[in-house]
Amino acid sequence: MADKAGLISLRNVTRHYKSGDRTVHAVEDVSLEIARGEFIAVTGPSGCGKSTLMHLLAGLDTPTSGTIVIDGLSLHDADDDALTDYRRRRLGLVFQFFNLLPTMNVLENVSFPLLLQGVSHAESEARAGELLKLVGMDDRARHFVHQLSGGEQQRTAIARALIHRPSLVIADEPTGNLDSKSAEMVTGVLARIGKERLATLVVVTHSAEVARVASRRIEMRDGKVVGQDLDSS
Ligand code: ADP
Ligand code: MG
Repeated sequence: MADKAGLISLRNVTRHYKSGDRTVHAVEDVSLEIARGEFIAVTGPSGCGKSTLMHLLAGLDTPTSGTIVIDGLSLHDADDDALTDYRRRRLGLVFQFFNLLPTMNVLENVSFPLLLQGVSHAESEARAGELLKLVGMDDRARHFVHQLSGGEQQRTAIARALIHRPSLVIADEPTGNLDSKSAEMVTGVLARIGKERLATLVVVTHSAEVARVASRRIEMRDGKVVGQDLDSS
């Protein structure tokens, strides 16, 4: 069944950085299987390798050793063109600081990536409108970034990350810069994406609430995966 198929497979992945005469073991021997439709929360103290692991999954960095296969593509030995294509077509990225374009309104920010891919104006805006409804931002479609709260900006950024129907969405501390009320709404949006299986989600978080709504929690320490648990429900 396609739905149950593995999306992500990491085998013995390491990422070492040389820093002077020292080697930092940012990611150390990580093996993981993630199925399509899972919502993974990655937790662990600052400096334990979470962002490095996300960069590897995003094809923004290559492992020192080990293999990473996502959606049938071997990221560890893909060339730059293949990695660019992977990021453009199959990946959605959400950051702690929302990275919206200030000269565009909400609807334009969300539809812009589709326009770049040559999708018609009408279809891009229709799809963006649907996603703005999903994230509860349809009543703010014509607002500009400076007119939005942090939480509203993040919900817009999540809609943008979904616009090209990526198979994988990676978010690195998406509630890290939000007040608790905004964080709660963003968490609700992530939970909904997971529940409706709109994309496989891998979310780095310090939030117990985000970890709670995930379907699996992965805990890292010193570059390693040291614990995992599966939701019983
Ligand atoms: P986290 O996201 O969990 O806080 P990071 O993945 O950012 O952790 O960092 C893991 C370790 O790798 C840290 O010790 C960090 O200093 C180191 N590191 C991250 N990026 C680089 C880099 N580009 N060059 C050297 N060391 C790095
Ligand atoms: Mg980090």
